[in-house]
Order: sequence, then C-alpha cells, then structure tokens
Amino acid sequence: MSQYTFIDIPFNYRHTCWFCGEPASRVFDFPKNPKHVHYLQHDPMTLPACSECAAVNVASDTATIWAVRDHVKQALMNKYGDHLAIGQNWTQQELEQSEFSGALLGGFGESAWQMYLIAKQRISYQGWSLMLDSIPVEGESEAYGFEFDGVRYISLNTCIDHLIKSLRLDKELLPELIDILGPERLDYALKIAKLNKAIIPYQRDRILAEVRQQIDDQQEIERQAQAAGEFTDIEAVEVGDGVATVESIQWALNHGIVDLPALCEQEDAFFDEFAHLGGPQCYMNYYGLQLYFEARQDVTWAEDNDPNKAFF
Ligand SMILES: [Zn+2]
Repeated sequence: MSQYTFIDIPFNYRHTCWFCGEPASRVFDFPKNPKHVHYLQHDPMTLPACSECAAVNVASDTATIWAVRDHVKQALMNKYGDHLAIGQNWTQQELEQSEFSGALLGGFGESAWQMYLIAKQRISYQGWSLMLDSIPVEGESEAYGFEFDGVRYISLNTCIDHLIKSLRLDKELLPELIDILGPERLDYALKIAKLNKAIIPYQRDRILAEVRQQIDDQQEIERQAQAAGEFTDIEAVEVGDGVATVESIQWALNHGIVDLPALCEQEDAFFDEFAHLGGPQCYMNYYGLQLYFEARQDVTWAEDNDPNKAFF
C-alpha cells in the first residue's frame, strides 16, 4: 500500500515505528499527497509507523522527513505531556511507597510509572539512519533537539514549556533563570523554580537578583584564583607606613618581578593592572609593594620577617 520507496529497515527494526519506536502497524507516506513532492529536499519515501504517528498531519510544504519527525514528536508531547510529568513530579520510589490511588495520581493508578516510561521513550526515540536503496538520505541537521533528564525534546523551548506546565511553575521565572544561567544549568534553575512556584513579581525579581549575584561572586572567585596563579599562599606584609597587599605581591611574582629595580621598571604595568582600584588606592598598593621590595634588600630582614620568603 505504500506510495513510495520503502526506507531501508535494519533487521532488528523490521516491525518498529521510525518515529517513536513502538510496534509499527501502518506506514507513513511522505509526502502524504504526491502533489506536494516538489516541496521536498530529498526523495519521497515510505516509513513504517505506529497508528498514532501515522495519523499525524503535517503542513503540505514540509521539506524534510526530520521536520516531520519534529512535528510528530510535538504531537506526542501535546498528547502525553501529562504522562511525562509523572516522572518530573515523583520518583519511582515515591510512587511505590505511597498510598496514591487512581484519583490522587490524576487517574493514572498503579501503572503511572510505566506510563511515564513509555511516554519518555517514545518522545526521546530517534529512529535509525535513513537510507533508500542503500543510499543515505542527506539533510539531517546535526544538532537535533535538547536533552534533559533522559528525555529528548525537539527544542529547549519545548522542554521549558513542558516543565512549566507539568510542574505548574511560575511562567516567567524558569525562562529568565535559563537566560542568566544558560541551558546547561537547567537542573539547577529547575530546583529554584520548583521551590518558588507561587510568587509575585517582587519576589521573582529578588530571586533573579540573587542568582545574578551568585554568578558575579563566582566569577570574582575565579578571577582571584587566576590572578593568584600558583601563589595562593601569599600573605600581606606591613612595612613602615605601607602594606604590600596579597594581590600586588601575587602580581609581581606572576610577572617574575622579584626585586626593586624590576618593580620600578614595571611601574606602568602595575598601574594598568590595578587601575580598577582607583588612583589613591592604586598608588597606596604600589607604595606598599615598593617598601616591601626595599625591605627585602636587607637579607637579614627577609630571613627573619618575610612570611613569603619561600616564594622568592
Ligand atoms: Zn509511532
């Protein structure tokens, strides 16, 4: 009954829906209407499909089978989002140990975890490589979808929308957290969003400000660690009316500056590096470092009083 060339089917998959991995009982012709074949970027084809996936309708100008797949996944997502949410709301252990019955689980009953697993597998399933008469079908985009918590979504947005809906999260908090933290920290963003479901705008702003602050602090720690280089154990040294700060001593050591003449030569570089402290503070730091290097010229002083002598 197929209209076009059947895709090559590896032996292990001979009864499998290419879209979702369930048993295939029907076929999917692409395009469904042969009149639309000119929209395609590759040859038309017929694929094995389950009855649900075979029934999905796609726009007549759909250009590739992978766009069809995205569309089919979206349809499954819309239909089985509630099943997928079971795994996001509970762990298997919680379900087994709980006394939840059908009504408390939204009618899913004891098979709830099973339904979650099936939905997850079908939505994440990614067919096999497409070949027609042993010739690969070209055009699959490398970066397909977004994976989170073992489920492959067609995009980051689909994933976020699903999480907001299934976990009844604040609609704006999670997307804004992702903007700040990046998709690779969705796990962390989700924890924050789950703890703050019912919030007013003022609270949302406060949470976001706090997360931004965390990131700034982290960057500051990383910047300091980088500035310290291998000289993390340096101590500040008081000399006369000045102080050689930890950061200025680290700067000198990291630049191979170990005596007063070398420091004087690199004065401009020092002022460039510490300009962010502001003029007077920058000068005080340089002055302290100068006094320290001057004091170090006295070998006895350095031996008896310099806590950093091991680094010189
Ligand atoms: Zn299917």
